[in-house]
Amino acid sequence: MRAEIICVGSELLLGDITNTNTRYLALRLSELGIDLHYSTTVGDNRARLVDCLGRAMGRSDIVLTTGGLGPTDDDITREAIADLFGESATVDEALARALREFFALRGIAMTSNNLKQASLIPSARAITNTRGTAPGWWVTREGRSVIAMPGPPGEMQHMWENEIEPRLQQSDSVIRSRTLKLFNISESLVDSLLKPVTPSSNPTVAVYAKQDGIYVRITAKAANDVDALRAIEPVERDVRQAVGEFIWGSDNDTQESVVAALLTLRGTTLAIRETVTAGHLTSLLAAAPGSEAYLRGALIMPHPDGDSGNREKCVAMARRVLEQFGADIGLAVQGCAVDGTDEPMSEIVVAVVEPSKDRVVTGVYRSRPHRVRTLGAYYGLHELRRALSSD
Ligand code: ATP
Repeated sequence: MRAEIICVGSELLLGDITNTNTRYLALRLSELGIDLHYSTTVGDNRARLVDCLGRAMGRSDIVLTTGGLGPTDDDITREAIADLFGESATVDEALARALREFFALRGIAMTSNNLKQASLIPSARAITNTRGTAPGWWVTREGRSVIAMPGPPGEMQHMWENEIEPRLQQSDSVIRSRTLKLFNISESLVDSLLKPVTPSSNPTVAVYAKQDGIYVRITAKAANDVDALRAIEPVERDVRQAVGEFIWGSDNDTQESVVAALLTLRGTTLAIRETVTAGHLTSLLAAAPGSEAYLRGALIMPHPDGDSGNREKCVAMARRVLEQFGADIGLAVQGCAVDGTDEPMSEIVVAVVEPSKDRVVTGVYRSRPHRVRTLGAYYGLHELRRALSSD
């Protein structure tokens, strides 16, 4: 089964809102094993929407639309579907009654344009919307369907989960994936190290650069969960063999959740001193689970105060903050501009000090100045994880 998504709304094209509906539907379709081949965003323009719908119906089995089901003149999804199929919409009495009850229950006057939301063309079946006033439309023609859902994500997701997905679940395959997360290695190096182990088309291996490192996603399509996971297993083993030393987590792990778990497991407390990162490192760790127990305190300094390549100074800062807050481990991140480079570059120095283990871990990294805040925090977490994992 091939699916296609059409999101309707000029707000999306103007950049006013982020298209989260596509992301949500893409994830749900992949879990159902339904291939998504196209995704389009179109403004509130009836002719252009009819054009998009026509193309989609020509090449896909299911066309999912979101948005444009409101009561106003610029909500044109119903009209465009009616145009495409050459049918006229009329008010459905049962839907109109439900709409009147919806408004009466909330003590709001219903205006006449709301009746548009109670209309149907002869080929459409209404899809219940318990979260809002706009029912969806499910129109099937020659084995192909257009499923129109409202734009607000809460309404759309509730409708999808309760009214639509259960009816699509008869698909005979599933798509499952495993994401391995790496840090301190470039996307191109990962790609070249994985070349010899990358299989053909199923499972697929894809490499993505993200804020917190490089992700390697292994995706398999199979008849069921067990077969999909079985197909992923040997590929995952090969990937781990090729780039294992850079892997810090998988799937839903975040760098801070991995570090927080290590701190909690060891019952160790932490004090942080950070400059150039604008408190980003502390904010990540303070929001991670168990932070009340492991985070003793943090000093966030407003200005860069590192000396290029000066690990000793950074170690001294980590030691000082550890003593100040009475923690087991001190973590310091400092930064400064690098002199004499063609393009502006910043240097990040990280030190982790743990006196009870007689342990000092340091790292020096370079970054473009605009990435120092985020990268500085992730280098801090990286060195802390290195120290905590070396027991
Ligand atoms: P309503 O009945 O509320 O008018 P509608 O079906 O007409 O709903 P739109 O008017 O197109 O939907 O969108 C309503 C709101 O839903 C938008 O202002 C936006 O906040 C949200 N929304 C719409 N489409 C998307 C999308 N693709 N991703 C995320 N949010 C969206």
